[in-house]
Amino acid sequence: MNLKILWMYSDMMDLYGDKGNVQVLKMRCQRRGIDCTVDTMTMGDTVSLEDYDLLFMGGGADFEQNLLYKDLLDRREGLQKALDSGSAFFLVCGSYQLFGQYYLDQDGNKVEGLGLYDFYTIASTRDRRCIGNIAVQAQMDGCTFKAVGFENHGGQTQNVATPFAKVLKGHGNTYDGGYEGFLNNQVLATYMHGSLLPKNPLVADLLLKRALRRNYGTVELAPLDDSLEDHARKIMLERMGIKE
Ligand code: GLN
Repeated sequence: MNLKILWMYSDMMDLYGDKGNVQVLKMRCQRRGIDCTVDTMTMGDTVSLEDYDLLFMGGGADFEQNLLYKDLLDRREGLQKALDSGSAFFLVCGSYQLFGQYYLDQDGNKVEGLGLYDFYTIASTRDRRCIGNIAVQAQMDGCTFKAVGFENHGGQTQNVATPFAKVLKGHGNTYDGGYEGFLNNQVLATYMHGSLLPKNPLVADLLLKRALRRNYGTVELAPLDDSLEDHARKIMLERMGIKE
């Protein structure tokens, strides 16, 4: 089996260890003998987005979002083609925001989003910035689990029809709304850096299954030894006062 991953705007969208997500996806493929290619792209590059099984875009501050959003909007057709061809998407924080209707930053600048989904994001006042460790109870592709991560965003994302998880500790989409991220059959979008996948290998495998689904249908992945990761996650949950 082989798998093609594209890390979009890898030089700009990479906060709080988001890069670790790509490394983990690759490593978990390698350990299972799945041939995994990771390509990167940035502004101005010509790329056929629908050639990829999994498209990843990490977090970035308002500054980067402002720099690249027009380039991203120009790729709307390519992104739609990738979605139509069954590609999986994994988006973190600033990228999550850009796939919705718009992001209104603290200075009142409106960054137009791709408009692929109904959610929109408005920056909070400084005293309601969402910062710190986060724990959630999630449901994805038939699995129910707790996940841990780290968040740091001013943006408050509203009108999320299908969130990824319920917040157990921390903030998520809004300061006190109780829900985290967005999930549909092809897209996982989240505020959880940390990075998410090294801390929660189950989510990495669910994303790999989604990505492999495009060419191979439903696949079973050979189990890997995640005892160290599981131990680390348990400790983080304990620190946040949550029992697994
Ligand atoms: N500009 C965004 C916010 O602060 C994104 C930040 C991020 O990606 N961590 O809401």
